[in-house]
Amino acid sequence: MTQAARCRVYKFGGASIRDADAIRRLGSLLAEKAPRPRAMVVSAMGKTTNALEALLRAAREQDEAGYRHRLTAICEDHLGVAEALFGPGSSVADALEQRLAELDTAHAAHREAPYPFHYDQTVGMGELLSTTLVAAWLNAVGVATRWCDARALIVTDEHHQAAEIDWATTRERIASLAAECDEVLLTQGFIGATARGVMTTLGREGSDFSAAILAEALGADELTIWKDVPGLFNADPRRFANARQILSLSYAEALEQTWHGATVIHPRTLAPLQRAGIPLTVRSFLDPEAPPSTIGPEAGEGDRQPAFMLRDDQVLLDIAPRDGGFLDEALVAEVLARLAEADLHANLLDIEALRLRLVVDHRPERLDPLGNTLAERFALTRHDGLVLLTVRHPDEALMAALDAHRSRLVIRCNATTAQRLYPAAECPATWRIPD
Ligand code: ASP
Ligand code: MG
Repeated sequence: MTQAARCRVYKFGGASIRDADAIRRLGSLLAEKAPRPRAMVVSAMGKTTNALEALLRAAREQDEAGYRHRLTAICEDHLGVAEALFGPGSSVADALEQRLAELDTAHAAHREAPYPFHYDQTVGMGELLSTTLVAAWLNAVGVATRWCDARALIVTDEHHQAAEIDWATTRERIASLAAECDEVLLTQGFIGATARGVMTTLGREGSDFSAAILAEALGADELTIWKDVPGLFNADPRRFANARQILSLSYAEALEQTWHGATVIHPRTLAPLQRAGIPLTVRSFLDPEAPPSTIGPEAGEGDRQPAFMLRDDQVLLDIAPRDGGFLDEALVAEVLARLAEADLHANLLDIEALRLRLVVDHRPERLDPLGNTLAERFALTRHDGLVLLTVRHPDEALMAALDAHRSRLVIRCNATTAQRLYPAAECPATWRIPD
């Protein structure tokens, strides 16, 4: 196969388009790329998604002044970038203003609607705004780009805020669009629409997933996620002073790490790629030539070397049958069913004869009702203020060094994974991976 025939999909997150300079840098990166990617998925600019969530809160709380203030800020942010890129009074600015006016008009009608629906109609707007800017800029610098509306491509069910994909229809729509147009297809991450065309979202940080959907539908040879870090790390560099880049790992290992709390890749992203055997590379838009990290079908160094995942603000639930008997399968099933109903994830699960221990995120609105239901049948003890450390591919010396001078409330270990529950008060703000 020739180089030019390769089909690549790119994804750019919010940091890579946070302001006019960042969008210019993205333009140069694309202009110099030969061959061009077949398709691009773009997130909302910078922190726009958070700003839209705050706008929605103000709208729901009938805080008129707060709502106006936030809408103006979002508007100024985007119009400021449009002016810096295209000069005053551009058609791009008009298009942005029109979208924001639509959002404002829709609010009055959506205020009484269920929250998840209102969320999607509001928060999904960030990607529609950002892609309008980015598509216009790419065309201005000579990268022939077609702005595509993800609401016409990504077809979902009606589960607002966490929509499921109608894969067959979505694949068909993407393939037929690709067949009729040669330009770079540029679309929004994070959003889709129901069969009736109502906007839905795929969950926070869902743009990676959107890119994977596109890559699968296009039969891409590769998906590249462009970030402000050079790749994937063996620990979160914001939390571990000496985190190191991992150059390669398998889908399975990446899924394990994501399951245990690694946040670099949205967890739903990997399934479509794995199905189609499409490798995912993570590169830095700040240093495009630096060696990337690749997740693919083969095991890599990341499948052998230790990796560290932290979860803060954890709660330990120690659960025993009230009658003092064994925790038989039926009782375990009951506890797990209650957990699922509360929409909580067991970050750690440990079963002994007389008690079961669960570690979950501190989410009072879910945890308090769960505690009340469990207390009907079980003796329940709860400990707050904990940190869960998960280590993939640990060795004894490593774990001993991590445990030194720390109380271990729970220790769990199997052939590939060790977990420790420590009191937060005994953990540092910034960790070091032991040598
Ligand atoms: N803009 C959305 C978010 O910030 C989706 C994404 O960036 O992946 O969650
Ligand atoms: Mg983002």
